[in-house]
Amino acid sequence: MIIIKSDEEIAAMRISCQLAASVRDRVASQIRPGATTGELDAYAAELIAAAGAKSAFLGYKGFPGNVCLSVNDEVVHGIPGNRRIEIGDIVSLDVGVHHGGFVGDTAVTIMVGVTDAEVMRLVDATQSALRAGIDNAVVNGRLGDISHAIEVVAQRAGFSIVREFVGHGVGRSMHEDPQVPNFGTAGKGPRLRHGMTLAIEPMVNLGVAEVQVMDDGWTVLTGDRKPSAHFEHTVAILDGGPEILTVSDVLAEESAAVSNFVVDERRDS
Ligand code: MG
Repeated sequence: MIIIKSDEEIAAMRISCQLAASVRDRVASQIRPGATTGELDAYAAELIAAAGAKSAFLGYKGFPGNVCLSVNDEVVHGIPGNRRIEIGDIVSLDVGVHHGGFVGDTAVTIMVGVTDAEVMRLVDATQSALRAGIDNAVVNGRLGDISHAIEVVAQRAGFSIVREFVGHGVGRSMHEDPQVPNFGTAGKGPRLRHGMTLAIEPMVNLGVAEVQVMDDGWTVLTGDRKPSAHFEHTVAILDGGPEILTVSDVLAEESAAVSNFVVDERRDS
């Protein structure tokens, strides 16, 4: 059953989702050569605790990290640890938090320095696929419209869609109905209604679509060990159009800092 959220519940989700987004962007800014995924996870834990929130991943079915950090051929669910980030890596960071009774779920793939041109194109296409999916998250549309839009963008770019892992409804729990596959038929599936909240999250592989789970029981790897990218937003379907809930205040703060800097410079000269 797809749970429809009231306007009050959407307002509460804006907060949990902004918080998740803020953690995402702050941790993402620390993804650099030499950092270990364990250090990034510890920083995420610090930020989540400081916000009075809880990781939605830590302890979920026994998951040992606060966030998921998946490098290169790791698709999703990478466990933070001793792995050191290198120049040319792509790192997917997935953040889920509980706050005020609601979950916010979001992911981004970061390119560390200059990476292979084809890999850059993969990351770009995955982000565009997410954007296309969100654009189709409109009242009176169908769930399949979202799935299809994602699939078309990834496939036209020549990449493969992961089929075993999909997006999902999100709200008081991290995983609610419906499942949101990144492939499908436009015009099919449940009708989209005002108040639905979905985590839309394309996982796109450079090579084959097939994936496998590592012996750790979590880390999902591409079948051919070629890179994979992942982007995710929590989105509210509203009468006025889709609203990305996982937007953060970090960029706003940074642009404020830049304009402060400009003012200071003028003062100096
Ligand atoms: Mg998710």
